[in-house]
Amino acid sequence: MTKLKINSKFMSDCIFCKIAKGEIPSNKIYEDEDFMAILDIAPVNPGHTLVVPKIHCDDLINLPDDLAQKSILVIKKIVPAILKGVEAGGFNLTINHGVVAGQIVPHLHWHIMPRFPGDGWDLWHGKAYPEGEVDKVLEKIKNNI
Ligand code: AMP
Ligand code: ZN
Repeated sequence: MTKLKINSKFMSDCIFCKIAKGEIPSNKIYEDEDFMAILDIAPVNPGHTLVVPKIHCDDLINLPDDLAQKSILVIKKIVPAILKGVEAGGFNLTINHGVVAGQIVPHLHWHIMPRFPGDGWDLWHGKAYPEGEVDKVLEKIKNNI
């Protein structure tokens, strides 16, 4: 397991840390040394799964690189079973990063949300940049990389 440069790998008041420690129950579909995948208690669709690092980590940016690399392999491994299990036609994969993006639980997790024809979950709708705006945005982001 990845060694953290902090005193504890768990946060005492974090619900996902409590699940990782086995202090509160969950519907676990998969676990290994570093990750657990649990059914969301309030699913947008049946099979809605959360992939959660077992160590406490606020968000993706703070996740150690080895776990970041491993996370996509865990997702890749379990997605076929979820899709087959609930007979979904596809899925959305998302992280809600920060309160403004709808993050409620401040312990990193990926949502795997199975999708069904006509399930009514319309995605957000994009709109074109105003004239001349795209170049400004491009520069502002690139200058920070
Ligand atoms: P987020 O908005 O990305 O922080 O989403 C948090 C998700 O965690 C929500 O979809 C909740 O339904 C889910 N959740 C909260 N508590 C639990 C729990 N004890 N077991 C499973 N899922 C949970
Ligand atoms: Zn935690």
